[in-house]
Amino acid sequence: MKTCPRMSRIRSDFEKDIRFLTVYAERKAGTPPAKTSAKQAITVKRNMARAMSRHFARCPECG
Ligand SMILES: [Zn+2]
Repeated sequence: MKTCPRMSRIRSDFEKDIRFLTVYAERKAGTPPAKTSAKQAITVKRNMARAMSRHFARCPECG
């Protein structure tokens, strides 16, 4: 799938956040902050899917 540089940036920004939250959740596994982070990671993933589909819908270079 071919994507434009803007799309790559959107994705890498979200992936950075998801990685950070996931690593944190693993490191603190079993604690309340870990649960919060894991939940946040899910929210960020959902936002990423939404942002990407929004971008695909209006970007002339992608899709
Ligand atoms: Zn694009």
